[in-house]
Amino acid sequence: MKITLSNEDVQSVSVKRIERISGEDLKKCYQCGNCSGGCPVSYAMEIPPAKVMRYLQLGMIDEVRKANSMWLCVGCLQCYSRCPKGCSVAAVLEAMRQSTLRCGKDRTEIKDLPMPLLKKAPQQGLVCGFRKFVS
Ligand code: SF4
Ligand code: SF4
Repeated sequence: MKITLSNEDVQSVSVKRIERISGEDLKKCYQCGNCSGGCPVSYAMEIPPAKVMRYLQLGMIDEVRKANSMWLCVGCLQCYSRCPKGCSVAAVLEAMRQSTLRCGKDRTEIKDLPMPLLKKAPQQGLVCGFRKFVS
């Protein structure tokens, strides 16, 4: 049985909880921008990696949740490898994604996917997509 929580429940996920899930200390980020500079998908993110860290430092978790950044991150860890402070924006975005999905807020509705896509897409791609976008 799928449990879907209200928007209030989702909003109650705090920055502290994101730090606990990700294992990252957001305060360590000093906004050098190296992560955004190396991220292969930052050009398409509504909030690029360095700004994700800044927004969360300021407690602006709702803005990060509404942006597409956590759904576009491909987990390449380029941000982590370039960070002089050892921060992993990838882990932070993964924590945001996991906490959102655990509240039942799916990114994709399987029933809305077009049949031609389901027929043509490789099975591995579909399974990966479902694991990333569906609770
Ligand atoms: S792990 Fe995500 S945020 Fe980090 S560089 Fe790769 S795509 Fe960008
Ligand atoms: S590379 Fe590290 S210190 Fe620099 S902005 Fe990104 S997370 Fe912050």
